[in-house]
Amino acid sequence: MIPYGRQTIEEDDIEEVVKVLKSDFLTTGPKVAEFERAVAEYVGAKYAVAISNDTAALHAACHAAGIGPGDEVITTPITFAASANCVLYCGGTPVFADIDPQTYNIDPEDIRRKITDKTKAIIPVHLAGQPCDMDAIHAIAKEHHLIVIEDAAHALGSEYKGRRIGSMSDMTTFSFHPVKPITTGEGGMIVTDSEELYRKLVLFRSHGITRDPDLMTRNEGPWFYQQLDLGYNYRMTDIQCALGCSQMRKLDRFLARRREITKRYDEAFADCANIMTPYQLPETNSGWHLYIIQVKNHDRKTVFEQLRENGIAVNVHYIPVYYHPYYQEHGYREVHCPVAEEVYSHIISLPVYPGLTDEQQDTVIETVKRLTK
Ligand SMILES: *Cc1c(COP(=O)(O)O)cnc(C)c1O
Repeated sequence: MIPYGRQTIEEDDIEEVVKVLKSDFLTTGPKVAEFERAVAEYVGAKYAVAISNDTAALHAACHAAGIGPGDEVITTPITFAASANCVLYCGGTPVFADIDPQTYNIDPEDIRRKITDKTKAIIPVHLAGQPCDMDAIHAIAKEHHLIVIEDAAHALGSEYKGRRIGSMSDMTTFSFHPVKPITTGEGGMIVTDSEELYRKLVLFRSHGITRDPDLMTRNEGPWFYQQLDLGYNYRMTDIQCALGCSQMRKLDRFLARRREITKRYDEAFADCANIMTPYQLPETNSGWHLYIIQVKNHDRKTVFEQLRENGIAVNVHYIPVYYHPYYQEHGYREVHCPVAEEVYSHIISLPVYPGLTDEQQDTVIETVKRLTK
C-alpha cells in the first residue's frame, strides 16, 4: 500500500534519540528548551511551549484565552475534531462557520455572520497547509475584540504574504504526529508573542505548578512549589524533543519535496475534466501537508474504494465535525454549512509525503486518471 502520508525518519534522527536515552534527562531536560527555541525561531515567534500533542496545545490555548461556559468560539467544520473539542474541554461552545469553496478554509464572510455578543475567539485551521485568509480574519478579530488561535497542525513552514504561519496571531498550535510536516511520534507546540499567555501555557502544561519564587505567594524554602492553576501533565519528553530538533533541521527539505510532488500532480491532472486540483490563495506558499482533489461526475465512494483496492491508501479530510454522533447529540442537529457538506462529498486526499518516490506517484496518477476518466 502507498499511504496518504508517512513520516521520514533517518539514521541521524535515530542517533539523536539514542543520545537522550543515554543521558541524564528523559523528560523536562535541555532538549525541550532546544526544540522550543528551534520552532520559535523558525516561525518567527517570541515564545514556544512544547506540549504532548496538538490536541493538548489547543486545550491549553483555549484555557489561556480564558474560554469558559457561555463563550462561543468560531471554527471550521472541515477539520479534525480536536479543533472544536478544545472549546468543549473548557466548557465553551464551538460555532461552525462555512468554508470557502476554493480553498476549503474557513470563510471570513461566514465568520462575520456567526458572530454574537458571546463570541470570544476564532480558531482558523490551515487545511492541507494552505494558509487561511489571515488579513480578513485579523480584521474581524480586531473589530470584535476576539482572540485568534490558529490550528496550524498542517502548516509548519507554510507562508502567508511572506510571513511564516506562527508569527501572526495571539497563539498558533502545531502537531508532530507522524503524518504531519515533521514528527516526534506524538507532540505539539504552541507559539505566541505574549509573555502573559506564555506564562499561562507553561503552568497549564504541568499541573498548574510553579517553582518560580516570583510567581509564588510565599516561599518556604528550596523544596517549595505551589499550584497556582488547575493544569494537566501535558509535557513532552526529551526523547521526543530530540527527534523534533533533528526533524526541524530537515523541514525545508521536506517542504521542498512536498511542493515538488504537488507540482507534478497539478501538471498531471491539468487536462482531467473530472478532477478538480487544489487551489492556492495568491501570496501564500503552502507546505502541502495534504493534496486534496475533488472528484467530479463519478461517485466518490466508488473511486475511493477502487483506489484502495489498487494499493493506494487514500483518505478523506475531513468529515464535517458536526456530523459526528457526539455533536449531533449535543445540540448540532440543526447546524448546516452547505459549502462544507458539498465539498466533503467529493474530496479525496492523495498521497503526499517526502519519501514518496516519482515511481509511486506515477502509479497514483495513472490509477486516479484511469478511475475518473
Ligand atoms: C492532527 C490534527 C490535530 C491533532 O493533533 P494531535 O497532535 O494528533 O493531537 C488537530 N487539528 C488538526 C487540523 C489536525 O490535523
